[in-house]
Amino acid sequence: MQTPSKLTLNSPQELVEIVEGCVRENYTLRSEGYVCNSCSAQIEWVLADVLLHTQLFPDCSEGGRVHQIHIPYCPNCELAPSDRGCIHLPGIV
Ligand SMILES: [Zn+2]
Repeated sequence: MQTPSKLTLNSPQELVEIVEGCVRENYTLRSEGYVCNSCSAQIEWVLADVLLHTQLFPDCSEGGRVHQIHIPYCPNCELAPSDRGCIHLPGIV
């Protein structure tokens, strides 16, 4: 999957659920780790810095805080996800 950028969510927990949902749908857990459902390659993970900030400033210029999350991807079927992204949350973060 790709690192979310400018994605509006209600809470950082939703990001974890999105990643878990992607893993359930696209990858299968084997003894050696997760593998791709399409090509059986071993899944790789990128540790991404996702900036959480308020959607009150939609141009992403306001600080916010960084949440680190591992983003999974298949090295054959997907481009490597960015190590940076951002999530927009309601109210002040
Ligand atoms: Zn694949």
